[in-house]
Amino acid sequence: MYPLNENVRGLAPSATISINALSRQMQAEGRSVARLGLGQSPFPVPQVMRDALARHAGEKDYLPVKGLPALRQAIADWLRRTEGLDYDPEHVLVGPGTKELMFLLQLTYHGELVIPAPSWVSYAPQARIIGRQCRWLPTDIEHGLRVTPEVLEAICRSDPYRARLLILNYPGNPTGASYGRDQLQAIAEVARRYRVVVLSDEIYSGLDFAGDHVSIARYYPEGTIVSNGLSKWAGAGGWRLGAFAFPDQLAWLAVAMAAVASETYTSTAAPIQYGAIAGFEDSGEMAAYLVAARQVMGAILGAGHRLLVDVGARLPEPDGGFYLFPDFTALADGLRRRGMTNSAQLCRRALEEIGVACLPGSDFGRPPEELSVRLACVDFDGARALAAASRLSSGELADEAFLRGHCNPTLTALERLCDWVGAGAMT
Ligand code: PLP
Repeated sequence: MYPLNENVRGLAPSATISINALSRQMQAEGRSVARLGLGQSPFPVPQVMRDALARHAGEKDYLPVKGLPALRQAIADWLRRTEGLDYDPEHVLVGPGTKELMFLLQLTYHGELVIPAPSWVSYAPQARIIGRQCRWLPTDIEHGLRVTPEVLEAICRSDPYRARLLILNYPGNPTGASYGRDQLQAIAEVARRYRVVVLSDEIYSGLDFAGDHVSIARYYPEGTIVSNGLSKWAGAGGWRLGAFAFPDQLAWLAVAMAAVASETYTSTAAPIQYGAIAGFEDSGEMAAYLVAARQVMGAILGAGHRLLVDVGARLPEPDGGFYLFPDFTALADGLRRRGMTNSAQLCRRALEEIGVACLPGSDFGRPPEELSVRLACVDFDGARALAAASRLSSGELADEAFLRGHCNPTLTALERLCDWVGAGAMT
């Protein structure tokens, strides 16, 4: 028995990372694998950001723990310009990825974590590591697997004075679903009534297909921390840069988190912070990049959604990001006859039999027997697809011929998966 912290004992590496390792191993053995497991941007880092990074490669000093003042200002300006939000740059905290900041927030804020089922894979394990309670909010397909104000109200009413942290992620991982203005407003009213702190995880905001992302901070500014970063819409997950913007009312939390940050990671890599400024600044290149990226992702997710619905899956319509989250429970009889009774078995068999890597819905908080899977539709040459999308004339859509030409590995993997699952319905 090793003397491990009780909270960490038995904790497996993140599901996303292990499926990717298995896919890589199969590829090393010469098998072809469609990698729909890891949610990494297929697109290259925009040239303006790379140029800025190269110019600042010599920056070697530690930076202030909260982040480079010019970057914090650029982030506050960007939030105002793109979302109409008013955050003081003094209350912006830059960190080595939003995942790390989320961990520090859960460590620093003493409240129960409240997240929808399904949610991104790391929120709940972070609560477990810290020894916090995690409450899963039930969702249903009729509401697109979104949090409803009624469900939030019921949890809050059961213990109205408990401090809570609600994490809301939209466009969502794993569902691709976002929230409308009315839905955000209704959730905001409940959160305000019960003084729930909302962490608004908007890491996919730049990939809202309609280019019309709206933050819950519009309706609940005093209680919302906005989380965003470079990993998804700027294709720079490996740069490891994210930021939280706190309202004045939660400045005490920003101060406490900065103190913890100063004792742990000290500051985010200096050249990366200089390079990041270009990602948040208003430039023709960033705007064109985002239009093209949304067009490609909107087209591939739209095509995937149609294929999955046709085969009998139920899933939310994607509004943005990289993911589809089909539930194949309607085909359970056939799948069960083939020995698949839960989502983990379904994913393992899909990888072994048709070389499609995806993640089981159970990793995202869904019941194990629900046959849901997360598909990250990002296995294609993003640089080529982006260049082709930017050559489309205005109003022209990325059609099937475009997807065959530029996103074929993902499109054929989705077709293969649908045929394979559908064949189960008939045997
Ligand atoms: N939030 C969501 C919903 C994500 O999908 C991810 C990454 O996969 C993150 C947060 C963490 O992003 P990062 O730490 O790269 O900023």
